Amino acid sequence: MKAQELLSQIRPIWLQRVSQSLARDDSARDAFLDELNRFFDGLEQAVMTGNPAWLDPAIFEWVGSPTLSDLQQSRQNVSGTLNSIISITNDIAIENLSEEDALDLLSTITPICTYGLEKIARLEMEARVAYITNELIEVRQTLEKLDRSKSNFISVAAHELKTPLTLIEGYTEMIRDLVTQNGNSQIDTLLGGVNIGINRLREIIDDMIDVSLIDNDLLSLNLQPILIGQHLALLERELESAIQDRRQTLEINNFPGSETWIYADSERLYQALKNVISNAIKFTPDKGRITIDGRSLPGFIELIIADTGIGISTENQTRIFENFGQVERFNLHSSGKTKFKGGGPGLGLPITRGIIEAHGGTIWVESPGYDEERCPGSTFHILIPIRTERTDPKVAKLFNALEKQQPEPDAKENSPTNATTT
Ligand code: ADP
Repeated sequence: MKAQELLSQIRPIWLQRVSQSLARDDSARDAFLDELNRFFDGLEQAVMTGNPAWLDPAIFEWVGSPTLSDLQQSRQNVSGTLNSIISITNDIAIENLSEEDALDLLSTITPICTYGLEKIARLEMEARVAYITNELIEVRQTLEKLDRSKSNFISVAAHELKTPLTLIEGYTEMIRDLVTQNGNSQIDTLLGGVNIGINRLREIIDDMIDVSLIDNDLLSLNLQPILIGQHLALLERELESAIQDRRQTLEINNFPGSETWIYADSERLYQALKNVISNAIKFTPDKGRITIDGRSLPGFIELIIADTGIGISTENQTRIFENFGQVERFNLHSSGKTKFKGGGPGLGLPITRGIIEAHGGTIWVESPGYDEERCPGSTFHILIPIRTERTDPKVAKLFNALEKQQPEPDAKENSPTNATTT
């Protein structure tokens, strides 16, 4: 008998057995019977024409309607169903046909079923990839939303805190005036403490504003000709008392590039360098050494700031440049800029990175690891591009004049920032 006729012969029993073993209940069975009929029609056509693609409509119908839970649990639903159908068909053929007919039928339909299985596997894989891609897009959108809310929160909080801080500052000044008139030195000392707190709070709020500017790509640079060597000399002066308090040594070497005029935002670059050097002071024990060196590379000046401090573990060497990336639980509250292991909000390095990157440069750290006993030290590298483009004609004129002069880094009068070390 021909395979086609054999198929027709087993059709009623096939429909009954397959629907009974695969459909969960009566209502599902009716719907499933329709689908099975269509599948069987396809199978018959495939056997008749020798073209397995006749199974496609039934396969597309099955694969095209996977429930969400099937996908979430990664169940190969349709492949599993077809495998069960193949095994039931084998049983039916063996039970109901002669040995020879069963062999004939099975050898005819096996390649068709293999085609069906391959097709289903591919379609299911595509459906799963599409599902996962969709999930990833959703996760990314949620993360972006969270990031935006965090950034908005920082910005709003910083601006809102500024107003009461200004009030406190004003009233403190008024109290100070009264006390000066009446000559109460005890209250004067206490007011000194209040002022230190106010200054520290202002620094933190300013850092929060800087972070939100950087996060939102709003940091604008005011490019002007500067000398890195001069900035380092100014910083050395500003940080002198902190270095003395901590009995540390700060060594600034003259290096090729330190006396080269480059375009940069003087105040922002000063702020960035101050963050890194203040950290070196903060995370280096008393009597430690901080060395600043550098070199001139094609298109860049590289600054190298090395300390003999507690070091940074490999896994944290990237994290510290992320917002609030304070990694070890030092002092839990903000306790000053240069006190050994003094806590901070963890915004200094992200701001530094934002400033350096806004200049087109980059910053990274190298350290053998974190060890408070052995103090392996950390070395920060900063690449600053040598910009010489003259965007603003007035600045360009000044730059030309300066290029002709020998640089005279006079640290006394020209500090680009009034910030003080606490
Ligand atoms: P903060 O100083 O406010 O904690 P930063 O962003 O400046 O924040 O630094 C983040 C963290 O990076 C610090 O808390 C510290 O763990 C680590 N770190 C920065 N500089 C050094 C350094 N020179 N040596 C060791 N650890 C450092």
